Amino acid sequence: MLDLNHGSGATYGAQRQATAVVEAVNAAIDAALLTRHRAEPPRRYVSTSGLGRPCLRQIQFDTLNVPKDEGRDFEPATLRIFEAGHRGEDVVADWIRAAGFDLRTHRSDGRQFGFSALDGRFRGHIDGCLVAGPVGIAYPALWENKALGAASWKDVVKRGVVLSKPVYAAQIALYQAYLELPHPALFTALNRDTWELHAELVPFDAALAQRMSDRAVTVVRANDHQELLPRVARERSSVVCRGGRAGDHWHPSCAWIDRCWRLAP
Ligand code: SF4
Repeated sequence: MLDLNHGSGATYGAQRQATAVVEAVNAAIDAALLTRHRAEPPRRYVSTSGLGRPCLRQIQFDTLNVPKDEGRDFEPATLRIFEAGHRGEDVVADWIRAAGFDLRTHRSDGRQFGFSALDGRFRGHIDGCLVAGPVGIAYPALWENKALGAASWKDVVKRGVVLSKPVYAAQIALYQAYLELPHPALFTALNRDTWELHAELVPFDAALAQRMSDRAVTVVRANDHQELLPRVARERSSVVCRGGRAGDHWHPSCAWIDRCWRLAP
């Protein structure tokens, strides 16, 4: 007897209809994510999150909300990954609390803990602070979490966050300095594919924090004086600009590469 049940493949037109539904649902979601992303108010300050990137000019473009090159804004697929990262942070916070840690992530008014310097033009918001817990580490300790794809996560596990992800290490050092949390920070990395959790302690690197703080001052001053900061690279074909692997590090392509190389050096 012919099987006409759902999923049997024998129902006339079922496969085409299923494909159409997948495409329609995803197109609707992508449109909604893009609309929501474009409605977000632009950030008008230097953020800790990208200060460890190699190119000061790129940080400046970002801070000044300079429009990205045509076709280089975030794709819906990237927005989905960002959202998964944010949700993953809530999940890990929940796990940490369930394990008996006293983790503070928000003020009583619901805002994240953070700092503001240079008249509000340099800011950062932390994932949380561990005040006590069942594991013998020095409290209070900064907690910073990232959700990573499997390959990136494995590299962090293998080499540690400082070597594997210097941008995150810079962010951690700045938080430890500005929030006066000098004990080793607890860095956790969630594997987005398997939901495994990596955890490591990151000692405070005062020199790194100072270097990053100085960079923030450089960007803020340049913005004040409407000075264009120098490029990090001599050639447009540099890996930092066009994206790719250099040594042990992967660089995403710069979203302002066309604009940058049209401007003065
Ligand atoms: S294209 Fe290269 S030099 Fe220019 S802002 Fe981007 S990373 Fe910096």
